[in-house]
Amino acid sequence: MTIDLNADPRVADLAARTAAFVRAVAVPEEERLSGVAGAGGEELRHHLQQAARTAGVFAPHVSSEYGGHGLDMRGRAVVFEEAGWSLFGPLALNIAAPDEGNMHLLEAVATAEQKEKYLRPLAEGAVRSCFAMTEPAPGAGSDPAALATVATPTAGGWLVNGRKWFITGADGAAYTICMARTSGQPGDRGGATMFLIDAGTPGMRITRHIETLDEGFFGGHCELEFDDVFVTEDAVLGEVDKGFEYAQVRLAPARLTHCMRWLGIARRAQEIAVTRASEREMFGSRLGDLGMVQAMIADSEIDIAASRLLILQACAELDQGRSAAQSSSIAKTFVAEAVGRVVDRSLQICGALGISGDVLLSRYYREVRPFRIYDGSSETHRWAIAKRRLRESVLAVESEKVSVGG
Ligand SMILES: Cc1cc2nc3c(=O)[nH]c(=O)nc-3n(C[C@H](O)[C@H](O)[C@H](O)COP(=O)(O)OP(=O)(O)OC[C@H]3O[C@@H](n4cnc5c(N)ncnc54)[C@H](O)[C@@H]3O)c2cc1C
Repeated sequence: MTIDLNADPRVADLAARTAAFVRAVAVPEEERLSGVAGAGGEELRHHLQQAARTAGVFAPHVSSEYGGHGLDMRGRAVVFEEAGWSLFGPLALNIAAPDEGNMHLLEAVATAEQKEKYLRPLAEGAVRSCFAMTEPAPGAGSDPAALATVATPTAGGWLVNGRKWFITGADGAAYTICMARTSGQPGDRGGATMFLIDAGTPGMRITRHIETLDEGFFGGHCELEFDDVFVTEDAVLGEVDKGFEYAQVRLAPARLTHCMRWLGIARRAQEIAVTRASEREMFGSRLGDLGMVQAMIADSEIDIAASRLLILQACAELDQGRSAAQSSSIAKTFVAEAVGRVVDRSLQICGALGISGDVLLSRYYREVRPFRIYDGSSETHRWAIAKRRLRESVLAVESEKVSVGG
């Protein structure tokens, strides 16, 4: 498959303006708040997003009907990477998780009325949202089929009952896209439905903020309780029992956009390390003249370049209307680990400075580590990649048998 590596001029221009905007506006705020977006509150979010609107770089991913630039996945790869240069860049452009993935899902699945009520204010940055799928054990996690939250039909709608955790951005979200079982039992592969549940709906409450290694996501990661939460029929997103299919609509692009943003942070970490290696002197030479440091810098360049190509390949497949299941799993696994390696090497090159709060490397180190777990752990993806590959072989053997037999 051939991939055109030259971004079209419109995308290249937006990427260049995004890079300039992020350095001028997002980086100073990120340094001021040590990369903890929540520390700046809604005021910070509104300030950054207004600045992005003024700079003409806001909402690059949503269609023009909802005020965006309508980039395809390859265009997003180029622009999101530039936004990812700062932890606050994605927030400014309104392309941070989970809102960005939710916008993608709503554009693909929601009714016209749901788009007006939920997508438009989200795309405009007027509200935030969250996506509630994961549950405490033994519920849904790596295996979504374990889904235990249930929605039962009642007069005029549904009653939702269950518990969710690690729900990013739940605190302050205007609504939750909640996955609940509408048929079958935990363990069944089908029977899930997505519901749009407004904040403040009786019975839905945040039971705690989970203390985590990372602190860069707005609204934190929360545990939620659903206790006889009543929603009307029009809260169903798409069709009943199709939730797992819709999750796929969201997941492949969402895991790639995470890769794009974290690739930006990997480049930033490498930049900090290279600058330090060029300036720091020891043993009668510059740090960057020492072979073992050069090897680390080279390995990080290789990780960054390979990550970019794997992302573009999966994006090209999605743009062609293909599922990109295998290529997005490959990209997600490689990039999540490569980004971790790059940040780790950068920190090592900077010595004690890297561990300190004087540079943002230790913040990046904490922020990128969870990416090997969410959007499919490395192990879940490796398992899926191998199964798909083995299936190909089995199919090839079967078709060989048929042609020999025929
Ligand atoms: C920072 C962060 C943000 C998150 N945000 C959200 C959110 O907004 N909404 C939401 O719904 N969820 C969210 N999650 C949850 C995330 O999707 C789950 O953590 C993920 O699906 C893994 O599920 P689990 O944590 O239950 O791990 P488990 O399912 O218990 O898996 C534990 C470990 O088992 C191993 N494993 C899994 N599959 C295999 C396999 N096939 N072979 C071998 N080993 C395997 C892996 O090492 C895995 O890490 C978030 C998680 C984190 C860390």
